[in-house]
Amino acid sequence: MRGRLILKTGAVLIVLLIMTLSIVAFFFRKSTIESSKETAYMVAQVIRSTLTSYMVMGTMDRRDLFLEEVRRLHGLEYVRILRGEAVIRQYGEGRHYEKALKRIEEEVLKTGVPKENILEGKDKVLYELVIPYTASSRGSVNCLQCHNVREGEVLGAISLAVDLTAKRREALTTLFLYGGLAGILFMMIFWITLRHFEPYRRLFTEIERVLNRYKDGNFKERVNTDMHDEAGDLAKEVNLVGETLDRTLSNIREKVSMLIGYTVMETENALKDTEKIVEELAKISHFKRAIEQDLRKDDIYDRIETVLSDYMSLDKFSIYEVDERKNAMKVITAHGEKLWCSEIILENADECRAKRTGEDVDSAEFPCICPRFAFNDLCSTQGIQYYCIPVNIGGKVGNVVQIVYEKEMDMFIRMIIPYIKGYLQEASPVLESKSLMELLKQQSYIDQLTGLYNRRFLEEIADKLSAQVKRRGTTLGVLMIDIDFFKEINDKYGHDVGDRVLKEIAQVVKSSVREADYVIRFGGEEILVLLMDIKEDMSEKVAEKIRRNVENKTIEFSGGVIKKTVSVGVSEFPKDCEGKIWRCIKFADVALYRAKEEGRNRVVRFTPDMWVGEEY
Ligand code: GH3
Ligand code: MG
Ligand code: MG
Repeated sequence: MRGRLILKTGAVLIVLLIMTLSIVAFFFRKSTIESSKETAYMVAQVIRSTLTSYMVMGTMDRRDLFLEEVRRLHGLEYVRILRGEAVIRQYGEGRHYEKALKRIEEEVLKTGVPKENILEGKDKVLYELVIPYTASSRGSVNCLQCHNVREGEVLGAISLAVDLTAKRREALTTLFLYGGLAGILFMMIFWITLRHFEPYRRLFTEIERVLNRYKDGNFKERVNTDMHDEAGDLAKEVNLVGETLDRTLSNIREKVSMLIGYTVMETENALKDTEKIVEELAKISHFKRAIEQDLRKDDIYDRIETVLSDYMSLDKFSIYEVDERKNAMKVITAHGEKLWCSEIILENADECRAKRTGEDVDSAEFPCICPRFAFNDLCSTQGIQYYCIPVNIGGKVGNVVQIVYEKEMDMFIRMIIPYIKGYLQEASPVLESKSLMELLKQQSYIDQLTGLYNRRFLEEIADKLSAQVKRRGTTLGVLMIDIDFFKEINDKYGHDVGDRVLKEIAQVVKSSVREADYVIRFGGEEILVLLMDIKEDMSEKVAEKIRRNVENKTIEFSGGVIKKTVSVGVSEFPKDCEGKIWRCIKFADVALYRAKEEGRNRVVRFTPDMWVGEEY
């Protein structure tokens, strides 16, 4: 900018200087020529009058002296009198006849029109003027009296030349001086202009620099200037815009990061940072809206899984759920390995460090910190790292998200952890409410007295369960259990003791079967057991075990001890009932009836002959 300014101002000033000098030279020359012309005409007039007088007085012999005098006086280069053709005809060529007439002299003698010429040589400048004398009968002297010529004919001419060499030198000197002075003046103007514009130029360069930073989203830059005029005000305005944008954008970022629970990595570009964090807010709020509308907890887990695998591009991770009741961990989803931790956490949730401490477990911070990570050998030798995030649900660790990664990904993982936590934080209250809903639903399936599932639960799962068993091609054992002579207890010891006995026997039944089996309070003191994936014809054995365990159980109460027995009817689904589960339940009941008939405290396997009723 400075270079361009110098170039432009310089060019303008040089053009101005040349123009001024040209104008001055032009007028100088013009006025010199004018004044020379005036002198020449005046001299010619004087010569003419004087020579005419000499002629009339007959003193023409003084002519040369006079002409020399005139030449000297007026500083003429030469002055000469020329005879026209008519005069030569009449008086001859005369003493002073010029043999070598100049061209303009010839022309003037021929035409009778005055002519001038400037002869410009290297060393000399001459202004030549030739003025004709024409014959006239009027005026003070009648030419026609002496001259044998016509009116208006050319008698002769005065040819003279004014030497302008000195004037030219003078003019050149003046021009040179003037040019020099003007040059100095222009240089001063040039310098003053530059000096005056320099701070503005510097300010504009500074504003340009700052605005370019603003364009790149860096609003921390300020215009530095000590100018206090309008330009200074402009700088202040630019700074104010920067400050306002910087403050507003950082407010937005701060508020959004408070909302989403994490912040994006700050760069120099506040615009991009703000855009990024607002995008995060949009993503998180979409995520939140989506999970709020999800029906089940599993749908929410699916979404978290999508976030981890698709948004965060993770390929090795697990989501665990803590089962409060059993204090066990359950694997919801696992990528890369079926189980990244040792199986012990599935039985005792407190074995999981993240669950127990409620704090992040970071193997990069403390190398291979968790003894329950199943691949600690890879952790120490091949740089396999893990980061486990406990998810707080209703004041307790409800889930653990475990990320497994290669050491090289450490930077990336550290960058995305806050994002993952942001999503988990959003998911936490929704997971909590879904858990509560599920608990509520679960409780509505639980019998309050015995803690077993109730009939409502059976109705809910029967169809699903039968489809599942059929799909898997396994066998479901159906045991219908009834306490023998239970009525007696009520009658003898009252209902409270009856309740207590019922409860204890329910527990004996439950602890006699596997975790995956369903134990359902079917009716008053009737218990239905559904044995999952049992080996064919093994149901009877399990029933026998239950019977034995009950028989061996002594129930103590304030009035003494009670021992009770049970009768069990057994059927097997789908074999016994053509794949109709309710029919198998009925057949188990039929077998139970037979057991009662046969004297109680026994197990009876259903056989088709027992069913004498119409088609079920
Ligand atoms: P058996 O089955 O051996 O033929 O004789 P039982 O005396 O057990 O006869 P039944 O099965 O017909 O009688 C069941 C009794 O269980 C009837 C009812 O008073 C009692 N009962 C049912 N539900 C409860 C309960 O929740 N609490 C108590 N205390 N008693 C119950
Ligand atoms: Mg009974
Ligand atoms: Mg009964």
